[in-house]
Parts: sequence; structure tokens; C-alpha cells
Amino acid sequence: MEILDELCEVHALRDHVPRQMTIGNLTIEGFSRAAVQTYWRIAELKLGFDVGAQPWAFMGLPRLFLSHTHMDHILSLPAYVARRRMMKMEPPIIYLPADAVGNVRNLMTAYSRLDYGGLPCELVGVVAGDEFEISRELMISVVPTFHSIPSVGYIAWERRKKLKEEYLSLDSNEIRNLALSGIEVSRELKIPKVAYLGDSTAKALDETPSMYDAEILIMEMSFVARRHQSDKIHKYGHIHLDDIVKRQKNFKNKAVIVSHFSARYADKEIEDTVLRRVPNMLDGRLILWF
Ligand SMILES: [Zn+2]
Repeated sequence: MEILDELCEVHALRDHVPRQMTIGNLTIEGFSRAAVQTYWRIAELKLGFDVGAQPWAFMGLPRLFLSHTHMDHILSLPAYVARRRMMKMEPPIIYLPADAVGNVRNLMTAYSRLDYGGLPCELVGVVAGDEFEISRELMISVVPTFHSIPSVGYIAWERRKKLKEEYLSLDSNEIRNLALSGIEVSRELKIPKVAYLGDSTAKALDETPSMYDAEILIMEMSFVARRHQSDKIHKYGHIHLDDIVKRQKNFKNKAVIVSHFSARYADKEIEDTVLRRVPNMLDGRLILWF
């Protein structure tokens, strides 16, 4: 966990019921506060990002995507695996930065011995640039992020078949006959549905423009106050409100969920500061997630 370099009042040390919001055809659920816990679920896509905590209902997720191994992002990993085993569910698949696989395996082995119970799961090490076909309709790509330890972000893509332009004027029989004769009549369309940044500086957004195009972007904004200057924040691999103000025009997302606020701030201070700096809240698309 990152060491806070100044004494601070901790506002967030209480149990949280994950907040829930429906955006388009997806339900976003989760909670994220720096150094406390971070976890997200998109039930319709059966995806989870990070596992700082494990609400009981989230154990149904067959796979998790971990951004990095700071404790507030992975603390409940053994509980998640153990609960699935207890409930006789399939061993989950856990994607995580490749550098961390060995240590996470050791952690699971130690927990398994302490608990006198197996922790069956598949650990898949990932690096930026990897792509995973989850189903015919869903693909996950791994994007580079910039944090104080090895880290990645993820984009969930919806895959759709679309009829090629040149066949748009044909009727369904003609299209079927072409397809039966072996001609590829459609092309694949990839739509970025959800982008998850994890912990990173804003460089990660700039390096992967699809982050700005995703329908829903879930990102950190650990710092908002002027007294926490952005250059210092960048050294720790985080985002400051200044970074968002500077990039306002880049966000084409339907919703930009910002979270992972430092425990230095009360919710009211975050709200007031953001409203002062971004009065139109990116035309209502900027969502402060407490
Ligand atoms: Zn972190």
C-alpha cells in the first residue's frame, strides 16, 4: 500500500455497500477509495476489475481482471477463490500483471495452507498489448498504465458482425447465397464498451486513445486539491484533477466515472473542488463515485 507522506484525517475507513448505476445497457457496481479498497463489477459482461473487497454477490463472477497488486486492489482475492470453491462454482480465471504471478501464486499457496483448504484458480499473467477472446461477443485488451509498481488497464470490447458496405443493397436470400458460397459478407465491428484504468498517471489515457472513446471510462482521480500538486502526484503514479481539466476536450465517453479519491479528502471537499474547476461536469458525463 502506498505510504501517505503526511498525517491525514482518514475519512473512508468504514464498510461500504457498493454503489450501483445503470449506464446504457450496463450496470456498474463498485467502490474505490485510495488505500482503502477498490473493486468493480459489470454484471452483464460478467467482468470484475480488482478485488480490494468481495461483496458476497460478486463471487458469481467467473473471471477477474487485476490492475496491479497494491493491497487495496487485491486484498480479498483468497476469499473470492475460496467462496467459489465452497459454493461449488468453477475455479475462476484471474488476469493480472505478468510480473506479479509468482508472488500471487505464493500468496495463494500460503493462504491455502493456513486455511487447510484448496484455492483452485487459474492465474493468467498479462502484459500491455495482450488480447483475450472471452466470448463471441466480448474481447478484452490490456493497455499500458503508469504507476509505482507494475500495472495495466483493460478495455472490454463488444464484437459485432456488420454487413459489408458492398452488400447493403442485397436482399436476405442473396446475402445467404453469397455466404453459403464461402464469401465473407460481414466484417467485425469492435466497440469499446468499458475501459478500466486502475491506478496510473494520465499518460495512460493519452497513449491509448480508445480509453477516451469507450462508452464508459472508469478511472482514478486520487487527488483534487491545489495543495497536492500534480507533478508530485505523478511521481507516485496517480491522477490529479488538473490532469482532467487539461484534457476535458478529449473525453468522448458517455460516462466518465472518477473514483479512488485519497482518504485525505471528505466527499464534500471533492465535490466542491470538482464543481469549481469543471462546472459543467463534462456536460453531465463526469460522475464522482463515492
Ligand atoms: Zn496502487
